[in-house]
Amino acid sequence: MSSAKIHTASACTSLGAELHRLIADLYPICRSITGEGLRDTLRLVAKHVLLTVSEVPTGTEVFDWTVPKEWNIRDGYVRNSRGERVIDFQASNLHVVNYSVPVRRKMRLAELKTHLFTLPDRPDWIPYRTSYYKESWGFCLSQRHLDLLPDDEYEVVIDSTLQPGHLTYGECFLPGDLPDEIVLSTHCCHPSMCNDNLSGIAIAAFLAKHLSAHPRRYSYRFLFIPGTIGAITWLALNEEKLSRIRHGLVLTGLGDEGKLHYKRSRQGNAEIDRAAAHVLQHGSYEHHLLDFSPYGYDERQFCSPGINLPVGRFSRSPHGTFPEYHTSADNLDFVRPERLAESFDVCLRTLALLERNGTFLNLSPKCEPQLGRRGLYSMIGGADNAGARESAMLWVLSLSDGSHSLLDIAERSKLTFDTISDAAADLQEKGLLRECLEFAPPMRAESLERTEP
Ligand code: ZN
Repeated sequence: MSSAKIHTASACTSLGAELHRLIADLYPICRSITGEGLRDTLRLVAKHVLLTVSEVPTGTEVFDWTVPKEWNIRDGYVRNSRGERVIDFQASNLHVVNYSVPVRRKMRLAELKTHLFTLPDRPDWIPYRTSYYKESWGFCLSQRHLDLLPDDEYEVVIDSTLQPGHLTYGECFLPGDLPDEIVLSTHCCHPSMCNDNLSGIAIAAFLAKHLSAHPRRYSYRFLFIPGTIGAITWLALNEEKLSRIRHGLVLTGLGDEGKLHYKRSRQGNAEIDRAAAHVLQHGSYEHHLLDFSPYGYDERQFCSPGINLPVGRFSRSPHGTFPEYHTSADNLDFVRPERLAESFDVCLRTLALLERNGTFLNLSPKCEPQLGRRGLYSMIGGADNAGARESAMLWVLSLSDGSHSLLDIAERSKLTFDTISDAAADLQEKGLLRECLEFAPPMRAESLERTEP
């Protein structure tokens, strides 16, 4: 079997607490698709993993898009005629519409109201609104808060800048035995939103940290990028790397109480799709499998027809299906440590399956080899799950003709991948099986590493 072994971590409370702590550290930062909040976020992530940060200038053409102006904000408020701040960015960064242009004016309530956004159905929550590609400004507040504002002359200030600068993204590359890559992508452009964005960032950072400490067959590339424009920018600037990407996952919305969802890649039956489904179906996870659709997160970009990478998505409750989505209620209480730990676990198990999923050749393929002579029956006799182990060995020997992977064999035999993989390891140890390595590209990771920026 390969030297690559990734130890799966059981959903443990300390891991959940650590993930939640990183989310709490990132929560106060006012992020956007560009600007200092995004950089501060990457600086915090870089305390956990080795991160290469790239800065792409405003105006750079990326496929059909253009890298936008950089947005930064220092302050924002609405002050009444007594000089009191009645809406204050310092109290919640959701109060200012993300990407608002600077404004400094006085106006009556009626005019101000045309720039205010509330959620009448959820009168205690502040909505999250953006204005990325249209230069405008606004404030968000709870409906109850708005109902308390009397007519008055208000001073409206948004102390922001929107000018040529950069789009920032972070990348953690972990070379493995093979140059073939698994890409894991998470968006990091939302301000104080815990499930939608921070849960994905925290889990990606901890997965990178975990993998960096273990031998790996695959190389791994973790992308911490602003949603949509960040993915488009990365793909446009890294086209030469795309042919090395074998599997990919978008990670987001991984901390709420809902069941786990895996959204298949556009290809629908890629190895990553089958690996994720197998892990969910054979684990004790409450889960649901979703077919690909061209809306959602950055799987839209990775799976677009001209890119066509096998990239699926792990989430818990899908975006837009829970009322807290894009509101102030997506807060530190909404993400649960035990759910974060479980989501981490399912991601890691899926990666571990990919690491171990080889194609093998039966070295004694003419009739059945004599297992008893090689001590394989006595091994079976001593095992608790003797029936499954024996069955797994026969399945592996039967289908290892160089054209079936271990996952193929697990699916066809209806045994778990782990049982099949363990049986293959036993058979390999006894000289009855060898891995077909001719499918693996010959370039070693060491040579790849030197070419990395
Ligand atoms: Zn979102």
